[in-house]
Amino acid sequence: MKVLFASSEVFPFSKTGGLADVSGSLPLALKEHGVDIYVISPFYKCVQEKFNISKIEQTFQIPLGTNTESCKILSTIHKNITFYFVKNDKFYYRDGLYTEGGKDYDDNASRFIFFSKAIAQFVNENNFNIVHLNDWQTALSAVFLKKVYNWQGKIVLTIHNLGYQGIFWVYDMPLTNLDWELFNPKLLEFYGNLNLLKGGIYTSDAITTVSPKYAKEILTEEFGFGLHGVLKDVEHKLYGILNGIDYEEWSPENDMFIKELYDEKTVTKGKKVCKEDLIKIYNLQDIKKPLFGIISRLVEQKGWDILIEAIEYLQKEDINIVVLGSGEAYFENTLKELQKKFEGMLGVYIGYDNALAHRIEAGADFFLMPSKYEPCGLNQMISMRYGTIPVVNPVGGLFDTVIDIYESKEGTGIRIKTYSVEGLIEGVKKAKELYQDPLKLARIRRRIMKLDFSWKASAKKYLELYKRLLSDAT
Ligand code: ADP
Repeated sequence: MKVLFASSEVFPFSKTGGLADVSGSLPLALKEHGVDIYVISPFYKCVQEKFNISKIEQTFQIPLGTNTESCKILSTIHKNITFYFVKNDKFYYRDGLYTEGGKDYDDNASRFIFFSKAIAQFVNENNFNIVHLNDWQTALSAVFLKKVYNWQGKIVLTIHNLGYQGIFWVYDMPLTNLDWELFNPKLLEFYGNLNLLKGGIYTSDAITTVSPKYAKEILTEEFGFGLHGVLKDVEHKLYGILNGIDYEEWSPENDMFIKELYDEKTVTKGKKVCKEDLIKIYNLQDIKKPLFGIISRLVEQKGWDILIEAIEYLQKEDINIVVLGSGEAYFENTLKELQKKFEGMLGVYIGYDNALAHRIEAGADFFLMPSKYEPCGLNQMISMRYGTIPVVNPVGGLFDTVIDIYESKEGTGIRIKTYSVEGLIEGVKKAKELYQDPLKLARIRRRIMKLDFSWKASAKKYLELYKRLLSDAT
């Protein structure tokens, strides 16, 4: 079985969020299960600057509307896996991956239709049995493979976040060079626009999403972003497989970024040192107060509409909060203003900083994640590994991974009761109550640190799916 895993971001080469983590670790886990797997992603500026990759495997000319664009496929080996990179500097040699200054690049349709064409051509010219696509940036490859190349292999498409579908205006359709017949409601057309993810959903052999609960939620109007009907249509080929965590990257026993290493036995002492460190970084005043960490893209999905209001109120509650995030200008600016107002209690760092993310996971007592919707969410699983108790809105993967400590003896975190400012405040108050009971706190910390959210089990489920698809083909 030879598999090509295609993604628009792959850790450690490029990253804006969880997709990169998954694309960096799932292929490794599949390799350990014996799968002959390769990864392909764009050759962004950040990749060129950090890694010395120059081996050229193939060169194509790719039609894009009336133009022709050059494409080089480069390769390197990392952790025993071949990673391919699609090089076209006009499209990818930029400061951002998809956005700059909080604004999407104007030519994202061209950039990712081009990427999808490159993947399809590469797959067609090399003998893969399975191509595993991820999100809208690669979804159109399925349409090219099935409708243009009549490719006989099997296609899996994983939806990491249905909130992003690659919707562009109809005038971008010619960039695909596909027949206008394909611009129909059972493929690429979506309320008069071009929808790349929809095309991929209809043409792939299996659709997966990143948690069992989210696989159900996306069939409803509330979580379906207008595609719930389409997903209902393909429910027979829709699966929910929970993401895992790369414990080589995220473990307090072995983390080069944190002040003191610790494990289940030394968690109380270790976390104290890491908390002191974090308090200093953020210039906060009182180490005795419970410390809540937030690492998040600053977008509405992550609950910022209720968080902003709740933060104002929570300053009276004798707690500290540290935030690391970047995203929409409105949330960035509001947070900066709040920080000035609540200096010493609220710490805000606007930007992207992997080392600081590790130090927050280790130093915080609680991790706040009141997402409006959450396909899987990695941060709550990472937090648990660090003994940092998650406070979550139980949707999607947060529902699948966090059990309420007030509802079960085996509880692993705190679930807020309603998605609202009041619900969030109540959740934080419950966390505060727990903080005042050091024995219980220590017991829960030790319990959550022992949980296993590694990729092992999830990779096995993907492997079973690949096998099933290939056996259907024979
Ligand atoms: P999403 O993919 O929706 O952003 P996830 O919880 O699945 O959310 O994954 C987020 C990943 O991105 C985690 O590894 C998290 O630590 C990281 N991350 C998000 N924002 C930042 C940031 N500003 N700085 C460093 N890491 C970040």
